[in-house]
Parts: sequence; C-alpha cells; structure tokens
Amino acid sequence: MEDFTNTPDTLLLDFHGEMIDPEDARFDAARGVWNAMIDRHPALIAQCRTVGDVQTAVRLAAARDLPIAIRGGGHNVAGHAVCDGGVMIDLSLMRGVTVDASARVAKVQGGALWRDVDAATQAHGLATPGGLISDTGVAGLTLSGGIGWLRAQHGLAIDNLVAADVVTADGTLIHTSAEENPELLWALQGGGGNFGVVVGFEFALHPIGPEVMFAAPIYAVEDGPEPIRAWRDFLDTHGDFVGSLCEFSTAGGEDFPEEHWGKRVYTLACIYNGDPAEGEALLKPLSELGNIVTDFSGRMNYCDVQQLFDTLMPAGEFRCYWKARYLTDLSDEMIDLAMANALAAPSDNSLSSLWNFGGATAKVTADATAFGDRSMGWMYSLDGVWTDPGDDDANIAWSREGWSNSERFGHRGRAYLNFPGLGEDNAALTRATFGANYERLVEIKTRYDPQNRFRFNQNIAPTV
Ligand SMILES: Cc1cc2nc3c(=O)[nH]c(=O)nc-3n(C[C@H](O)[C@H](O)[C@H](O)COP(=O)(O)OP(=O)(O)OC[C@H]3O[C@@H](n4cnc5c(N)ncnc54)[C@H](O)[C@@H]3O)c2cc1C
Repeated sequence: MEDFTNTPDTLLLDFHGEMIDPEDARFDAARGVWNAMIDRHPALIAQCRTVGDVQTAVRLAAARDLPIAIRGGGHNVAGHAVCDGGVMIDLSLMRGVTVDASARVAKVQGGALWRDVDAATQAHGLATPGGLISDTGVAGLTLSGGIGWLRAQHGLAIDNLVAADVVTADGTLIHTSAEENPELLWALQGGGGNFGVVVGFEFALHPIGPEVMFAAPIYAVEDGPEPIRAWRDFLDTHGDFVGSLCEFSTAGGEDFPEEHWGKRVYTLACIYNGDPAEGEALLKPLSELGNIVTDFSGRMNYCDVQQLFDTLMPAGEFRCYWKARYLTDLSDEMIDLAMANALAAPSDNSLSSLWNFGGATAKVTADATAFGDRSMGWMYSLDGVWTDPGDDDANIAWSREGWSNSERFGHRGRAYLNFPGLGEDNAALTRATFGANYERLVEIKTRYDPQNRFRFNQNIAPTV
C-alpha cells in the first residue's frame, strides 16, 4: 500500500470542493446531521464535488492518520455521518442521477437522496426500491439493506445494486460488479460504509406507476388490535406483492377529526404497484376493518407516495433514538405488545411500526448478499422522536424498553443495522446480524481497509 505519511498539503491544490475547518463560519451548519441529538466536531469537513476530490480527502486523512466519517444523506439516526476529530467526507454536492431507460439502469452519485433518484427514474416510468422518506440518503440506506415500499416485488435496495464505484482507504478508485471485484459488491450489499466511499451506485430499474394504489386507513389504538390482526392475515395471502407497514403515531392537526387529537392511532399503509384499479379493489377491505379515524387511501403518483411521510420527519428538528429488530412472525401477543408500547411512548412525536417481508425479499439466499438471512417474517421498529433535551432519558428508555420487551419474538437475535440505536456498543448485535457472513466480511474489510479508517458505521473490525 502507498505510504501517505509525509504527504504535504499540496494535495489540496487538486481539490475542487469546499474544505471547512472549525474556524470557518460554515462549520456548524456543515457538521449538522438529521438527528438533532448529534453534536460532533470533526477536524475537517471535505465537501467533495468530484471523485478526484474524494480521493484527495481520503489521502489527506491517511496522511494525517485520521479516521473518516462519510456523509451521504446525513440521515443516520446514530449520526455516523459525522465524527469527533476525524475527517468528514461530505458528498452532499454529488447528487447526480443519470438513467439509461433502455438498459433499465440508473447511475447515482454517492450523495444523492431518494427524491433525486425517484424524480429521474419516474420520468421514464421506472423506479428502484428505496425507503419511505424522500430526503434519506441513497448511500447509507442502500449499504445496510434498504427497506422500502417495493420490497415485496423487487426486494431490498441492495438486491437491485448491480455495480458501484468505491474509493478505498488508500485512495484507489475501484469498480465493482458481478464481473469485476465481485467480492466487494457482495460486501456493499448490506455491509454498510465499512469498505470505502461509494462515489457511484448502479441500480436495476423496474416499470412502476406513475400511478399506484396506496392504502392508508387509520384506526384508533383504543379500539383494539382486530384490524391489525386482519391486516396481518391479509398479508399472509398477499404479502408477495404488497409492501406494507403498520405505523403507530399520535393523531393531530387538520387531517384528523378533532375528537381524536392527541390519541394514539395506527395506519395500515400498503402499496400495490400493479394496475391501480386492481389495487383499489384488492386493498379496499383494509379500510373496512373497524371504526375508521380517517382514511388517506387513494390512487396517487409513485413520487407522491415516496414523499407522503416526509412532513412527519423534518431534518434537524427532532432528537431521535431508533432501534429495530426482526421478528420471526407476527403473533397476537406481539401485536398486543406493540399496542401497549405505542401507548407508553412519552412523546407524541414518537412512532413505532411493524413491517412485513416476503416476496422478492425472502427469495434471496443468506449467502447471496452480505445482509444475510432473509427468513425473518417481520420487523418491529421503535422510533423515539422528541424535542426537549430534558426528555432524552425518558425517550431513550422507551425505545430500549420496547426493544427488550420484544426480544422473545425476535428472529435469531438479528436487527436492522440502519436503525442501530445510539451510544451503545453494538458489536455483538452486528455480528449476530451478519451471522455466517461475518467472517467473510472481516476478510474483505481487512483487504480494503486494514487500518479501519472507515469506522463510523456498524463496524466490522479488520484483523490485525
Ligand atoms: C426519517 C428517516 C426515515 C427512514 N426510512 C427508512 C426506510 O424507509 N427504509 C430504510 O431502509 N431505512 C430508513 N431509514 C434509515 C436510513 O436507511 C439510515 O438512516 C441510513 O443510514 C441513511 O442513509 P444516509 O446516506 O442518509 O446516512 P448518512 O448519515 O449520511 O450515513 C449513514 C452511514 O452510511 C455511510 N455512508 C454514507 N454515505 C456513504 C457512501 N457514499 N459510501 C460509503 N458509506 C457511506 C456512513 O459512513 C454512515 O455509516 C430512515 C431514516 C430516517 C432518519
């Protein structure tokens, strides 16, 4: 490996982005990320415009023996996009997307957000599975799996990742695909930001919409769990082509009847991305499962579906602690527990949700991607969201309590590594989640990042 120990700062002559140090007036804005709890001070922020800039920033960090945090969309709730004392490589100036509609492939720069991808691909009537919120970064979401509305028919984001360009710890640019450096592509399919800075992603695209059917009937928690049980049974039959989640929240605002304001409710949200008329008929029974609080169901453009929940989650405004575990199945007891946990949330802004799997997601074998085992039936996510720092302890305790009290329903001790909590040592959880893939990931990490320069993630430590 090249030795950068004495590299002079003349490296900066080749840098076309913005170098922001702690003395710079832009520093505080640039170090801020989505979760308002995160307050870290890097030694330097390198806002890159080009792949060459990323190589320069990586070499600069190596020359100073500093660790690197990578900011894609900055949405990671654990705040892994920013670190204390290291170099923060910020890709927010690299958000380009190009679509080859005939080949059904999108090339996406490493700092793009899902809204960038959805807009560019839907212009051609195409899409690739992303997440549920449009300003989440493509990079972080994809590299740890990527669970979105299209998962039933088209799998996780990683299942559609066909190639990538990566700047590794020594500043080398590596192309990886099924033909070239396939081990690295495999590692990127779930192994997180451990292996280098992904400057370009290539995703397979599928015909979607533009109009799709989206169901979103809302029921009151006080009216009981029967609608959730019926929804679960509905997904037992239709889950191979309907992506869905049951989201617990608190009713409020003009969209809800006033008598429900401040009460806990749940939305049975489902997408059917085939013929919208067929979808309307198929999903209608979900709106007939009990007393409806309100119903947002309807035909809508796919891009609008992708932005439906955005207003619930404005960037930088809320303090957050989120944690999610996989469930083997969704038993009546687990549903009752999820209802009780939702009622116990200390903050009205907190959410919790039950996500189904199956379909294309479940068909991928455990060793086909670094992500690992796909035999979990469900996921349970606890999203503590609040505003006052004085409420930190109560809200973190709520998420952790829900995480612990659902353990008996968990699937092989595995968690979704994009909702990793914050502040705890997750090494054992990370290892359990990768399962039999862990040792192979350690080998790849050791090859591409032997000094663990990229360590602000669900870290896979290299062997020394
Ligand atoms: C409001 C909200 C909604 C969400 N909804 C979903 C959802 O529907 N489905 C889902 O699966 N997840 C969801 N998530 C979780 C989300 O996937 C993670 O927070 C993810 O880490 C965000 O990616 P990012 O690029 O914005 O994050 P960042 O904070 O920028 O980075 C996260 C991690 O990825 C690494 N990284 C970032 N960019 C790169 C890169 N270019 N190359 C290499 N490593 C990189 C970073 O080092 C860091 O470790 C949601 C999160 C939030 C806050």
